[in-house]
Amino acid sequence: MSAAELVALVCCDLGSIVRGRSVLAAELGEHLRTGIGWVPANHALTPLGPVADSNPFGSTGDLRLLPDASTRVLVGAEDHAEGGAGPLELVLCDIVELDGGPWECCPRAFLRESLRELERELGARVLASFEHEFQLLLDTPSALPFTLDAQRRVEPFPRQAMGALAEAGVEPERFFAEYAAHQFEIPMAASDGLASADRSVVLREVVREIARRRGMRASFVPLLDPAQAGNGVHIHMNLLDASGEPLLYDASQPAQLSELGQRFAAGILAHAGALSALTAPSPVSGARLQPHRWSAGAVCLAQRNREALLRIPPVLELAGADAAAQLHIEYRGADAAANPYLALGAIVRAGLEGVRARLPAPPLLERDPAELGAEEAERFGVGALPATLQESMRALAEDDTVRGWLSPLLYDAYVSVKRAEIDAAAELDLEEVCRRYGAIY
Ligand code: GLU
Ligand code: MG
Repeated sequence: MSAAELVALVCCDLGSIVRGRSVLAAELGEHLRTGIGWVPANHALTPLGPVADSNPFGSTGDLRLLPDASTRVLVGAEDHAEGGAGPLELVLCDIVELDGGPWECCPRAFLRESLRELERELGARVLASFEHEFQLLLDTPSALPFTLDAQRRVEPFPRQAMGALAEAGVEPERFFAEYAAHQFEIPMAASDGLASADRSVVLREVVREIARRRGMRASFVPLLDPAQAGNGVHIHMNLLDASGEPLLYDASQPAQLSELGQRFAAGILAHAGALSALTAPSPVSGARLQPHRWSAGAVCLAQRNREALLRIPPVLELAGADAAAQLHIEYRGADAAANPYLALGAIVRAGLEGVRARLPAPPLLERDPAELGAEEAERFGVGALPATLQESMRALAEDDTVRGWLSPLLYDAYVSVKRAEIDAAAELDLEEVCRRYGAIY
């Protein structure tokens, strides 16, 4: 008996869970043209399992998952061992109407439209990279943070994960042990806006796949243990003009951040509360975003300060490196419960709002934001991120600008999913919610 070659046609839903249907590889050509059936209510499935109550879709309607052939990933093509998992092949899809037009709730369409707007108004495109942290859920004692020992104890997982990610085309750059127990990080090379979010989806699926093959689970949960560091998603962004010249660099400006960059950053900070409903949207996300966790303890802009929501990472001067190409901003307030297309699309739109409104340059805070008194915090424009999902959803409800980027149907669906998560977590203590989410993400 020979096993069939399957290709999974998948999308990333509002809770950043990858769902889809598989087809025979031999029939992929046909499906690239017409897609496969999909159901609107799938977009109201919660990360907890059941579909959200009182969601706007109900039982009616039909859509298509339309594969984007440029996102095709094949990992382990040679892997045909009897009883083994076999190759992992997937193609990311847009969710479209039956006539092929974009569905108003499709996250990829949301990001595409944000990028189009940026291009139209500023002639700019985004170069981005999602920096993911994750933990292997192991019962064994963990080694010390950042050690070679921590990495070697889980070999061959690091080598297999890096190999599989390279095969998947996401350009992994490094592998290293992080601070928390069995926590690791694999930064990827930057790519164009849409591709960077695609890579975020692919990286997580491939890392989980390699762990699964080794009988382990890799979890990207925002916070696994409230006593330890969380798993962040730091979104690194640069803006380039039509000829590929970087737009965020200006040697004459503070921190070398151009006026455009300052306004872009100011827009993100101005909408930070509502943005967190889209970038850190789980019941455990707020607990990660507290001071002194090196996540994003405060809404402010800083150079090389890991407590800030927006950080300007260092520019290398070693070996004649080009400063202009390196200078970029890092949004540290995201996590893997966020749909990467909605997260990046919303951050880009917030930045664009800042440019439109010609917002003044945010002050650069080079101190620990938690040590500022109330008056200083006000002067530096430093605020706290919402501490809970309820609070960030309220901030979204109250921010007409950010809410307005989502179609009413998408907003209603999002609210129904998040309400279900808030309700399910309401009676549980944080440790228990972290444990449950650890098993989901
Ligand atoms: N684990 C930290 C977070 O939750 C990030 C630490 C770092 O890489 O700077 O975002
Ligand atoms: Mg890290």
